[in-house]
Amino acid sequence: MTDYPTLKMFINGDWIEAGEAGTMDVVNPATGAVIGQCPKASPAQLDAALKAADDAFAGWSRTSGAERYAILRRAADLLRERAPAIARVVTAEMGKPRAQAIGEITSSCDVVDFLGEEAKRRGGRLIPTRGAALIAQMVTHEPIGPAVLLTPWNFPINLPVKKIAGALAAGCTAILKPAENTPGSAQLLVECFVDAGVPKGVLNLVHGDPGPVSEHLIASPVTRKVSFTGSTAVGKQLGALAATHMKRFTPELGGHAPVIVSKHADLDRAVAMCASTKFRNAGQVCVSPTRFLVAREIYDRFVAEFAAVASKLKVGDPGADESVDMGPLAHGRRIAAMEQVVADAGGNRGEVVTGGSVIAGSGFFFEPTVIANPSPDSRFMTEEPFGPIAGIVPFDAIEDAVGIANSLRYGLAAYAFSGDLDEAHYLGRALRAGMVGVNQLIVSSPETPFGGIGDSGFGSEGGEEGYLAFTDTKLVMLAKS
Ligand code: NAD
Repeated sequence: MTDYPTLKMFINGDWIEAGEAGTMDVVNPATGAVIGQCPKASPAQLDAALKAADDAFAGWSRTSGAERYAILRRAADLLRERAPAIARVVTAEMGKPRAQAIGEITSSCDVVDFLGEEAKRRGGRLIPTRGAALIAQMVTHEPIGPAVLLTPWNFPINLPVKKIAGALAAGCTAILKPAENTPGSAQLLVECFVDAGVPKGVLNLVHGDPGPVSEHLIASPVTRKVSFTGSTAVGKQLGALAATHMKRFTPELGGHAPVIVSKHADLDRAVAMCASTKFRNAGQVCVSPTRFLVAREIYDRFVAEFAAVASKLKVGDPGADESVDMGPLAHGRRIAAMEQVVADAGGNRGEVVTGGSVIAGSGFFFEPTVIANPSPDSRFMTEEPFGPIAGIVPFDAIEDAVGIANSLRYGLAAYAFSGDLDEAHYLGRALRAGMVGVNQLIVSSPETPFGGIGDSGFGSEGGEEGYLAFTDTKLVMLAKS
């Protein structure tokens, strides 16, 4: 890629090319080629970012909501204008087809708009007093303080945007540490906020090895809030660290979304939606529909039609061919994870109906894969695959399907298809997840909260919750003097 940016950090209003802790390679997952060198922050550079966020907090937290809105609104407009160029970098860094990259960026602009508007909209409340001596009981939402934002690679614009816009709208300053493989996307995103007028020190960008960087930033007394999106295992580690230092923590973690397809569903519509959504972003989506629980009456047809769609998907380098349906996995680790899931199938542990293999050549490509009837104890049914693998299981009674759906400790997204209104309502209530989609597979919009329960984390991003997550609740009780 000829226009890949020179990678930099952004600390206290300065773009910094030299990481004092050396550099790391950035690899295009579709070709295996090294496309950039990313600077790694030293402890001293992390301290400089912490100091900048701390120093800038007093000023930024006192700006009016209207001022913060105006800057965020400009940032959203710049992101819209720059979407075509930023999308090329997203595709080169993590392998998403161009149309999906553009879609991610344009929906991110709406997130920035909404959270910016929250800065103007979100007041506190007055609670009636119990006696005449008290004049007022006022509840306000105060910015928490400097926030550390740790984001993964699968949505390298949308996931940082939710955190940056929530933090800045609420009056917090922030340090973003994006995934090691998508630093260029993060840089171009931060540039939009900087060019929109975010003052020096309010937003900082650092890179490096995630373990030491996150430990350093979380342990600092400057940090008041930690927001992390990534795996459950890492989320638990970071949560423990945040608790040790008494920091507010929002974890958005893994999922293993069930989809119940009732005999009352519109089968053609359900298959078409499920098969196309499953392989979006090569299945590397925390809310990706993955465990398909299908009524026995329609099971054979569902498996055959789903597998037919999967086997016809065009897989290839999305940087070279914009018509591909599915690109590579984001890095080599994901290929090894897919192979382990497929190796565990076979015999009574599930039949690989289509796919199941690495695609030879350079880059990290894996076939769209469908496993029929994986057993309850199979690797597929118990571990989040986070890749292009779907499993389809027949059920007899709808309550059995709900039991299977709710059997894991994950609880991020869950879905159901049913044309029977009572059953659709029942499924919406009975599925245990932070977000439930009924007769459709979208559980995210700028205005609505996004988050899970159980091993999928707690708290929400997006919606008014995404603003309040960066605030402390404060009560002022005012009496006559
Ligand atoms: P990984 O755990 O190695 O890395 C995932 C992300 O976590 C990366 O962005 C990485 O920078 C970050 N990370 C890792 N260790 C960290 C630490 N100690 N401190 C701070 N950040 C850290 O896994 P992977 O193979 O890259 O991705 C697959 C796994 O990650 C899956 O299990 C999936 O659940 C999870 N994941 C989840 C999401 C999500 O949207 N919830 C997104 C991407 C990855």
